[in-house]
Amino acid sequence: MVAAGGGTNVAYYPMPTDPAQLDRDHVWHPFTQQQAWVEEEPLMIERGEGSYLIDAEGRRYIDGVSSLWCTVHGHRHTGIDAAVGEQLGKVAHSTMLGLSHPGATALAARLVEIAPPGLSRVFYSESGSTAVEIALKMAFQFQQQRGGQHARRTSFVHLRESYHGDTIGSVSVGGIDLFHSAYRPLLFDAHAAEPGDAADLERVLSMHEEEIAAVIVEPLVQGAAGMLLHPPGYLRAVRELCDRFGMLLICDEVATGFGRTGTMFACEQEGVAPDLLCLAKGLTGGYLPLAATLATERIYEGFLGAYAEWRTFFHGHTYTGNPLACAAALANLDAFEQERTIERLQPKIALLEELLGGVETMPEVAEVRQRGFMVGIDLGEHDPALRLGHRVTLEARRRGAIVRPLGDVAILMPPLSISEAELRELVAIVSDSIQAAVADPRVLPLAA
Ligand SMILES: *Cc1c(COP(=O)(O)O)cnc(C)c1O
Repeated sequence: MVAAGGGTNVAYYPMPTDPAQLDRDHVWHPFTQQQAWVEEEPLMIERGEGSYLIDAEGRRYIDGVSSLWCTVHGHRHTGIDAAVGEQLGKVAHSTMLGLSHPGATALAARLVEIAPPGLSRVFYSESGSTAVEIALKMAFQFQQQRGGQHARRTSFVHLRESYHGDTIGSVSVGGIDLFHSAYRPLLFDAHAAEPGDAADLERVLSMHEEEIAAVIVEPLVQGAAGMLLHPPGYLRAVRELCDRFGMLLICDEVATGFGRTGTMFACEQEGVAPDLLCLAKGLTGGYLPLAATLATERIYEGFLGAYAEWRTFFHGHTYTGNPLACAAALANLDAFEQERTIERLQPKIALLEELLGGVETMPEVAEVRQRGFMVGIDLGEHDPALRLGHRVTLEARRRGAIVRPLGDVAILMPPLSISEAELRELVAIVSDSIQAAVADPRVLPLAA
């Protein structure tokens, strides 16, 4: 065949149209060893409905991890669907650099209204990682612009086993060696403290008192660590230590925000208001990528000045405050009010606790950690090469549930809208799957 105007001979191969084949040929998945991935049949999700995901063959699976901790009121929520559709009829994207739009302004006001007291300014971006980058840069620049002694506050304190995202700044304050150690030479210095241990934090802060800009924590639950729970009173103690040593507190509620721990924000449970608050995952109900970094008026004012003083916050992403995403987020907040989501969640949290009581006694289970709707079922120490957590995922899939583990910790984080019957089904499937995965002859000799 002769290409028009060229004269080159072009060989035509039939293009594969099988999505699984296209996936193996062209897609590189996040947090995935592709060499193992291409040996498995990828599960293709085509549709969602309430608590369920539906594959290309029409099989239904309970969405046991809220599509990676995002979905809040279920898939195909009527109100959020309508809001996004309505916005689509107006404009899909317009910039926040030099312009504004009603969705972004209404959402900012709503977030300030529901956030812990004192947070009055909203800076938008698209992911949890960017919400954290922004908080770190704001804290750093704020201290620089205070001047004098404060200009020496150039480093951060984070907790061991913490996770704040995958961009270089957020990795610098991350504490999960498996994810983070490879990048060590690229990262800025940060000081680590023991999670849940206020005395250790006090020790670290007093050692580096004059060089720390801010402390960053995931309040109450360190999600990616495998649902590591802090003891009651810890977050309050962190706030008090930050105040005593004169440094800022950044709370990363990317995972815990929007009801996951049983209250709208985890900070509420200890009456804590941070100086900077990072939100993402559940912000749009799990519909569209949107993140927000909330700041106090004090921090905001630290950036004010005449144009040529260059106190501007020089940061902004192209899709910042996208109108479709803002429309979804506003409808998400409407649903929280109209459906009394937090109130109706409480008996489901109690039921989940009761159901997990049965899981905790299973011989295959080392420990169950729960706060609200965030659950880690720890299967104990196993040879990582066995990929026990992954085997649980595959067993659960056969039984009609989607879960994704963190190492050998099975994670449950269902949509807040899940029904009691669906919750019972999810826990039953996951218990059966743990039993089946551990009973696998490839696993047993080591587990014994
Ligand atoms: C998921 C997560 C992030 C990163 O969010 P992305 O949207 O994946 O960038 C940051 N912090 C916490 C606590 C998270 O759970």
